[in-house]
Parts: sequence; C-alpha cells; structure tokens
Amino acid sequence: MTLGQRLVKDYDAERVSIAVPGSHSALQILLGAKTEGLRAILLVRRDLAPLYQRYPHLYDEAIVLDSWAELASERIASRLRRENAVLVPHAGLVEYVGVERAERLQLPIHGNRLLFRIEADQHAKMRLLEEAGIPTPRRYPSPRDVDGLVIVKLPGAKGGRGYFLASTPEGVEEGLRRLVEQGVIDDPSKAIIQEYVVGVPAYYHYYASRLYSRVELLGADIRYESNVDGLRRLPPRYAESLEPSFVVVGNLPLVMRERLLLKIIEYGERFARTVEEVTGMPMIGPYSLESIVRDDLEIRVFEFSGRIVAGTNVYMGVGSPYASLYWGTEPMWMGRRIAREIREAAEKGRLADIVT
Ligand code: AMP
Repeated sequence: MTLGQRLVKDYDAERVSIAVPGSHSALQILLGAKTEGLRAILLVRRDLAPLYQRYPHLYDEAIVLDSWAELASERIASRLRRENAVLVPHAGLVEYVGVERAERLQLPIHGNRLLFRIEADQHAKMRLLEEAGIPTPRRYPSPRDVDGLVIVKLPGAKGGRGYFLASTPEGVEEGLRRLVEQGVIDDPSKAIIQEYVVGVPAYYHYYASRLYSRVELLGADIRYESNVDGLRRLPPRYAESLEPSFVVVGNLPLVMRERLLLKIIEYGERFARTVEEVTGMPMIGPYSLESIVRDDLEIRVFEFSGRIVAGTNVYMGVGSPYASLYWGTEPMWMGRRIAREIREAAEKGRLADIVT
C-alpha cells in the first residue's frame, strides 16, 4: 500500500477537498474543483497571493506561506489532512520542495509519486520513454559523439532556460563550460545532448483514469517560446546572428490531423503501461508527452511530464475538442477532469485507487 493510500483511509470521503500550490495551473484546478462542487484549498507564497486574491470565489481557504519550503512541513500537511485534502501536484511542486521531500509528503497525491525521481533525471526520463517503445530523438552519450545539429538540455524543469544548440563536439563543450562558469549547472554530465529534430512542436495532454480504466487524450497545445518563436518575425539577416532560446511565455491550442490521432493515443497508453511496469504503481491522473512532428508525420517525443502541464490551461472553463469525445457538450478541461475523478472516487469509496 502506498503512503497516500494509507493516509486516505482515515479520510471522511464526504468532505474531500482539493489542495493545490498557487502557480502554474492552479487557477484551472481551483475552477475545476468548484465546478464539481468540491472544497478547494490554495497554498500560496505570500508574494504570489495577489493574483489569486482577484478570484476569491475559486477557493474556500488560502494558506499563505512565507516560503515554498513550508509546503513540505508537517504543520501544513496535518492541517490539510484534517481537511481531507488530496494534493494535486504540478511542475512547480518538485521545483519548490525538491524530489526527496515531494516523495515523502505526508499527503495523498493525485498522481504517481514515484515519477518525481525519474522526472528529475533527464537520462532516466528518456530511458522510460525508450522502454515504452515511444520514438525519441537520438541521444548522444558524450559531446565527442556529436555529428549534427543537437540541443543541449539541463536537468529539472527550467522552462527551457539555459538550453543551447550546437553542431560540433567543440560547440557543445564550450556551451557547457559557459553554463558551469555562469553557475547555471554544477555537473555538465547531468545535461542531455539530443538530436535537434526539425519539425513542429506538439504537446499531448492525457488523463489516466482509474475509475474508467482508460487513458483519455484530452487535448494538445503548442508552447509559445521566447525568443525562438520571435526570431521568425525578424528579417533573416538580423535573425542569423542571434541564438535561439526556449523560455516558455504561454501556450496555444492545437488540434492534430486526424490520421495522427491513433498513434498519439497509443503512445499515451504505452507510456501509462510502462510507468506501471517500471514503478510498480499505476499511472494516475494527468500527464503529457512533448514532441516534434516531422514532415514525414513521424513523431519524436523529447520529453514527458508526469503531471498536469500548463498547456492544458488553454482549455480552462471552455473544454477541449477532444474532451468532448468523452464528455459530450459538458465543458471538460484538465482541472475539472481531475476534480471529477476525485469526486466520483470519493462517492464510490475508491479514493485509495486514485492517490499514491
Ligand atoms: P523542454 O524543456 O525539453 O520541453 O524543451 C524546450 C523546448 O526546446 C521545446 O519546446 C522545443 O521547442 C525545444 N526542443 C526540445 N528538445 C528538442 C529536440 N530534440 N528537437 C527540437 N527541438 C527541441
């Protein structure tokens, strides 16, 4: 039995609530909880509170923190347990409290908490995708192996900051040296060197439902990144001398060509199966595969997120086209989908099935 399953046994299912750290995709998760009639608790760092104070009707309680580290304290966890709270993690959580503390959080988590550790390690992450038989960009074990255009990525969710492109071993080595000098990374071996795939980006949003025994494809998005998406607005003669960067600024909704859908769904299903094989715990709740689609319509998945991705925010309140294939005319977005599962699990006495 997992930590979350043990904790949830003492819960009053009729009074279940949803807790979420205030950043990333908190607004749509809170809106989802309220739409499904659940109590919602916002955990927010003092300086970020003013945004959420604009929408006081979205939560029943706000716990204001002086630092994110408090999120992992027993004081907060016991308070949340008294509220029968299920924590919905997003990319912010691990970034704020670190992998070890996130893994040990004394709260039921809607998601597979064993993925935190895998996600923090770029190499382990790519291995998981490969084990799932999902096509990934070629990996280069060492800068010396580089023989074409590559993208060098840093560990952890840094929103693309510090990534760089290079096409020679020397270029990669120099870029890594620069990042160490600037104090951006301490250990260059933790960076990952990947074939740069030419195509268009597409990010797929999945929801692994334990209650409905299925993986739902709920949507897709494109990230809007600075400055790589701005470079094409410049005449080439000016853009040429500039290095692209990949800092996420926002997201745009996307629908896929219908002939690609089956493949996208199958990759999502394979991912969920492999997570269960590797961690011994089922995939639970939202996750995402992040890809580049080439002009031969081949998909290369370069990244995954084992939790809700911010790109799902594009469907907040209105629902996504793919969600309507399951939920009809009822507007369904990821935050609401999460709340629906938690509410139904509570009603059916199955909370233990949707937390770890
Ligand atoms: P990530 O932090 O891994 O999501 O990557 C940030 C951005 O870098 C992506 O949104 C893409 O625009 C770009 N990117 C990452 N990996 C690749 C790749 N292998 N080939 C092409 N572009 C990539």
